[in-house]
Formats: sequence, C-alpha cells, structure tokens
Amino acid sequence: MAENLSALADLVAAGGVLALTGAGLSTESGIPDYRGADGLRRFQPMTAQELLADREARRRYWARSYVGWPRFAAACPNAGHDAVATLQAAGFVGPIVTQNVDGLHQRAGAVGVTELHGSLELVVCMQCGERYARDTVDEWLQLANPDFDRSADGPLRPDGDVAIAESLITQFRLVHCVVCGSDLLKPDVVMFGESVPKTVVAQCFSAVEAARSVLVLGSSLAVMSGYRFVRRAARENIPVAVVTRGWTRATDEEVSVRVDAPLGTTLTALVDSLTG
Ligand SMILES: [Zn+2]
Repeated sequence: MAENLSALADLVAAGGVLALTGAGLSTESGIPDYRGADGLRRFQPMTAQELLADREARRRYWARSYVGWPRFAAACPNAGHDAVATLQAAGFVGPIVTQNVDGLHQRAGAVGVTELHGSLELVVCMQCGERYARDTVDEWLQLANPDFDRSADGPLRPDGDVAIAESLITQFRLVHCVVCGSDLLKPDVVMFGESVPKTVVAQCFSAVEAARSVLVLGSSLAVMSGYRFVRRAARENIPVAVVTRGWTRATDEEVSVRVDAPLGTTLTALVDSLTG
C-alpha cells in the first residue's frame, strides 16, 4: 500500500492531472453510493421514462425527494473534497469531471468542475425547458403540502431521496412550472435511462487528451459515462490512477496505480506528501 501511495504521489506531483470523481468521494459526507464495495447496485433508481410517463411516479419521486432534500442539501464537503480543491489550488490538478450531483467539489472551493450527470440543485421543466433553483421548487412544495410530515427518518438514498410510506406518497401534491403550467418537473440530472449530453462528453474527451494523467477518485467505473474516459486515456497512453474502495471495472492494462483505501485519509496524506 505504501508503495502504491508513493507511485500515486509521483504521478500527481508531475501535475496536469484530470480528476474523475464518483460517489465514493461523497460517502464520507453522508451521501450513500449506489454500489457497495462489491460493485453490486443496492438501489434500483427511477428512470426518466418512468418519471415522465406517469403522474403517480412523479408523485412518488417528489414526495421521497421532498423528505430527503433537507438532509441532502445539508451535506458538507469532506476531507476528500478539501484535498482535491487543495491539489487544484496548488497546481497539481486541473479539470475535475464528476459523476456526482451534490455540488460538493464546488463548495470545497474547486473550480472548472464538469458535472457529467448534472446537479440536484436545479430542476428542469421537461415541457418548456425552464430551469429553477431546487430551493425555489422546495418552497413551492412546502406551500402545496403544508400538512405533510417531512420528518420520516429512513436512510438517505443516493439520489437524495428517502423511502417513505405509501400513505404519505398518495397525499403528496405536485407543483407546476410557472411558465407553462406543466407538472413535468424533473431534477436537472442525468437519470437512469438518459445519456450525458454529447457536447459535455466531447469537452471531457478533449480534457482527457490534454491531461498528463487521469486520477479516478471514488468510482468503480461501472457505468460507461465515466469508464469511457479511462478507456480513452489508456488508448492515448495517458497514465491512470484509481483510488477507490473495492472492485473497479478498469483493467490492469488501463490502470497504472491502484489504491484501495478510504478517500479522505488517502487524499489528505497525498496533499501532505506533496505540499508539506
Ligand atoms: Zn414549463
């Protein structure tokens, strides 16, 4: 492990690092991962098709999300996010591409963050395209649901929602886009069944090709939306380091350094070794 950490430090010390980050970086902030260390998915998330096709699915989604939002919004950057921001400010890390929708990189002070899967801080109307701050939509939901018990204490799930009783879901009132009146409101994230916008993917491929190395943090690379950047790096002979817990999809041919250890302590040690 010490050998791997030293190889990781050498790679990052050379600078020009593109960081590709996933859910494993935010678990220490209390936001769970879809996948455990075994790589298996723990939750079956709602797809965009389900959300758009069926008002009762939207009622279910928004009721659960309404209960989870205060906790999701209260999550704070952890030592891993802080370390990434520090490595960027010190000039080692350049662009950051994240699969996370929690905005925690930016809140830790990082800049140049591409959110591959969008952000839960925005809501988009699928009828007319208008976007709203999630906090604004939350106020509308509070006004529409004055008697709704928001204190259900189930575990927060990766999409920022909480599983709640059916009786709560059926009484939940949806809110409407103030521009067009539609209730086709969707979190402004790439849900299961949707693709990352092509322009975003193209920008990320360019950033990968311009990088000296790629540092994968807290991602098993199970989904192609992130894995394709590792494949591109490997094809271009750009070294890839992976710091994450457990299984990853990337092969030994694609990865030059692997560290299977907690992100916060590992990245803090990395910062200390490079800036101490
Ligand atoms: Zn609208």
